[in-house]
Amino acid sequence: MTSVLALAPHPDDDAIGCGGSLAKHAAAGADIVSVTVIGRERSRHDEHMTDEEFREETTAACRELGVQRSIWLDEPSRDLVLSRRLHLRLVSIIREVAPDILYLPHRKDGDAEHRMVYTLGTESVWMAASDFFLECGAPVPAPTLILGYEVWSPLASFQYTENIDDTIECKIAALRCYSSQLKHTQWDEAARGLASYRGVLTSGFGYAEVFDIIHCSGTLER
Ligand SMILES: [Zn+2]
Repeated sequence: MTSVLALAPHPDDDAIGCGGSLAKHAAAGADIVSVTVIGRERSRHDEHMTDEEFREETTAACRELGVQRSIWLDEPSRDLVLSRRLHLRLVSIIREVAPDILYLPHRKDGDAEHRMVYTLGTESVWMAASDFFLECGAPVPAPTLILGYEVWSPLASFQYTENIDDTIECKIAALRCYSSQLKHTQWDEAARGLASYRGVLTSGFGYAEVFDIIHCSGTLER
């Protein structure tokens, strides 16, 4: 069975960047785990929401996409530090999940924390495959495929396209679970527009998600 790990800097980033692809993996029977690195940043739109209500948005979105397990690292927003402690937390997760496919933000995303999570993810994959850091479990091979998704900055060039005609509505439904975020930014509309643009430009019609291939090796069973 294919094992998939999606790394999100903030809640909803994975749904925006690769939600349609995650739903396809789920439909194909994959095991999917999402990791949200940074905890809650309160805005004036959601200051009355409890932390439980806020977290329930992610739980509901995961349910829509077919993500079986979501893990929160609760790192501080705008105080994120790529420490040994944080790397080792992610190394433990990677060694436990042993993902065949890893999704994370692409390296040139416009948000500084997204770029930091790109570095965190790629560095932790290397660490998890190494013979070091044995306090975090036994080494595992690097994922067969590591894909960088787009959120704040569309990719100027990309090497991997996933048609999401069958899962675009699932992706939109997942994004609409994040009602606190939609109060200030219409991510559901932006995601549909970008997926339509990617679909039309890559195949002439439909919806697609595109990715930067960060690493690819071996044969992928899908
Ligand atoms: Zn984000």
